[in-house]
Amino acid sequence: MAHDDVDIAEGVDHQVAMVMDLNKCIGCQTCTVACETLWTEREGTEYMYWNNVETRPGSGYPRDWEEKGGGWESEEHNQRSVGEIPSQQDYGEDWEFDHEGILKEGAEKALEPENVDPEWGPNWDEDQGAGEHPNSYHFYMPRICNHCTHPSCVEACPRKAIYKREEDGVVLVDQERCRGYRYCVEGCPYKKVYYNAVTKRSEKCVFCYPRIEGEGPDDEVHPPACADQCTTQLRLVGYLDDQDGPIYKLVEQYEVALPLHPEYSTSPNVYYIPPTAPPQHSEDGETVDVERIPRSYLEELFGEQVNDALDTIERERAKVERGGHSELMEILQDKNPAQQYRLEVFSDD
Ligand code: SF4
Ligand code: SF4
Repeated sequence: MAHDDVDIAEGVDHQVAMVMDLNKCIGCQTCTVACETLWTEREGTEYMYWNNVETRPGSGYPRDWEEKGGGWESEEHNQRSVGEIPSQQDYGEDWEFDHEGILKEGAEKALEPENVDPEWGPNWDEDQGAGEHPNSYHFYMPRICNHCTHPSCVEACPRKAIYKREEDGVVLVDQERCRGYRYCVEGCPYKKVYYNAVTKRSEKCVFCYPRIEGEGPDDEVHPPACADQCTTQLRLVGYLDDQDGPIYKLVEQYEVALPLHPEYSTSPNVYYIPPTAPPQHSEDGETVDVERIPRSYLEELFGEQVNDALDTIERERAKVERGGHSELMEILQDKNPAQQYRLEVFSDD
């Protein structure tokens, strides 16, 4: 059943959404590889990661994307904030290795990039995190295009080549219309549109739309490859306005799944269950009542709402520990694929 209270873009029937539970991500990059294999093994896409997994705290990919601007000045969505295009160095250059010589011909040298002397690349600061031993911390954050309700990338395009499609709110670049002006790259505050210098067109995550439409060889509906392949199955995929689904419950009802950087005002449709970690330890190994991941950092990422979300999760967890029942905890642990991927609920519309 559709729900009328959900904020869905005008003219869009239903909005696809994803919830990622950051407590389950092990940073294995299987999702990245799944996406790469399916979509970005073509000329001009070498530097692109439509799905990437970054270590937090960290500079991310492209480097320092949070400082590059874009999005909207306010919730009114009448003035875009001017952003910048990341440099090739911010994405990391395409490193070439002599795999052939070293692995097959036995050349005696180290396997290292031969065409550049790299100073930065995707996952350069992997696992680095922050804090001091024994209280250091880090967590992984997978990112795809958020298929935003108010996409500033769409607004930025003077040719209307990038658009939010009516049936499910997926944001796509029309390759015929695109002229490669890159206003969309500037406009997206999440830096999730990429420029292909070979085709001279912009490209981005397509939410695996042929898979969710059942266009594959078996004619069956599949979730996006990043979700399907995820080692720990931390992603829920469905529609934000499916009020019987777990996404609606986590986002709208319990308010524990939060968009990243809500202050960019694009209203993302990828939501995160914020990470928790064991409390800090004193030098002699005693547990002290101080949070390991500073709240201030989580507030920076997810806004002040993260406090209520974490309180709710803690309260519900305590309820289960006392022998009670919690629908929220059940949803967060549910491994039933029929609930995890609810993609056919509106197909008869
Ligand atoms: S994340 Fe960026 S590219 Fe994706 S819809 Fe939002 S503004 Fe557009
Ligand atoms: S496959 Fe899953 S667990 Fe592995 S990095 Fe991606 S989101 Fe994290």
